[in-house]
Amino acid sequence: KSFEAFALNRQLLNAVAEAGYTEPTPIQEKAIPVVLGNHDVLGIAQTGTGKTAAYVLPLLMKVKYAQGTNPRALILAPTRELAMQIDKAIAQFATYTDIRHVAVYGGLGPKAQIEKLQAGVDIIVATPGRFNDLYRAGEIVTKDLKTMILDEADKMLDMGFMPQIRAILEVIPRKRQNLLFSATFPDKVERFSAEFLEAPIRIEV
Ligand code: AMP
Repeated sequence: KSFEAFALNRQLLNAVAEAGYTEPTPIQEKAIPVVLGNHDVLGIAQTGTGKTAAYVLPLLMKVKYAQGTNPRALILAPTRELAMQIDKAIAQFATYTDIRHVAVYGGLGPKAQIEKLQAGVDIIVATPGRFNDLYRAGEIVTKDLKTMILDEADKMLDMGFMPQIRAILEVIPRKRQNLLFSATFPDKVERFSAEFLEAPIRIEV
């Protein structure tokens, strides 16, 4: 088992090697080809399984390089800590690409986040509330979004983010690839996935 077996480009493989990853974890083994194949994914995986790289690597492969001003991928996370952590993983794996990314979350002024958005970004990592604030302020243009990822969906629903997530779904293109990751799979996550995902491949680790 090796990362070289995936359809990832040299820039990404070099960053993976530099991160010290020698072998893909089970979720990476299963999810990377499925995400590259443009399928929707329902991933039941906890923190520590390598779920972040499982979606970040194929996402970076699809985004490929900096293009235009508007984001093409949106990753939603329940907390600012997780959003920052995901953005850090993107920064690490995107080192040898020109892909632009930003994390937007509450708890501090939006000025630096707005400056990055205005300069142009390819990937946005966001907490739902701050995403909606910036969208309403006209700082995020959603029309070019092609991929939407929900990380820790169970936690987002527990924290009461459902209305915020629904508001986001109403303002993004209908035709897109969706990935949903959750550590647990209670009824409310199952019901939401059934709505959000189209013919998903289910991956459990
Ligand atoms: P995550 O489940 O995405 O939060 O990742 C948990 C930890 O495992 C992080 O510190 C990652 O850097 C690390 N990790 C993820 N995938 C691999 C891998 N294939 N080889 C070694 N470490 C990994």
